[in-house]
Amino acid sequence: MPELIPVLKKKDINNMVVQIARRISSDYQDHELILIGVLKGAFVFLSDLMLNLSIPVQVDFIRVASYGSDTSSSGRINLTKAIEIDVKNKDVLVVEDIVDTGLTLSYIIDYLKSFQPKTVKVCTLLDKRQRRQANVKIDYACHIVTEGFLVGYGLDYDEDYRNLPEIYHLQL
Ligand code: 5GP
Repeated sequence: MPELIPVLKKKDINNMVVQIARRISSDYQDHELILIGVLKGAFVFLSDLMLNLSIPVQVDFIRVASYGSDTSSSGRINLTKAIEIDVKNKDVLVVEDIVDTGLTLSYIIDYLKSFQPKTVKVCTLLDKRQRRQANVKIDYACHIVTEGFLVGYGLDYDEDYRNLPEIYHLQL
């Protein structure tokens, strides 16, 4: 049976989201900010994040499929849902659940830059920075992860566990 080992409690997640939302609200005061959530994993974080922002924002989503094993990405990435808002000359903030090798994010940043936004920055809930392969800059990271495969708070394993309100290390 898979085992779920607690990593982040509701209270910890809430504190992180409030703090990062405060920084983003301050950095983007008087900007036209568009949040781009990466489906599906980031939808829970994105909804909490936007509710804690004190500035007006627009929201859109992108979806990509990466082909690899169940717990790691291969770097072969396909766009399966394009953005629908015009981001030209706007400030874009990509909202990710977790950045691992960075290959997915690198693809997403290149895709978004093709629409000529004013800026593209990145906010992630979880950052596995030791495993990075692509040279991507993370502007806002809530929590650094050093090991394991995490689930809950939007993150899945084979579509399970997304609805868990806290974050766990899944031990298969
Ligand atoms: P990357 O391209 O950075 O290697 O992979 C990013 C994607 O892999 C994330 O958006 C997520 O879908 C998936 N991923 C990487 N690590 C984890 C993890 O620990 N838990 C879950 N649920 N997904 C992960």
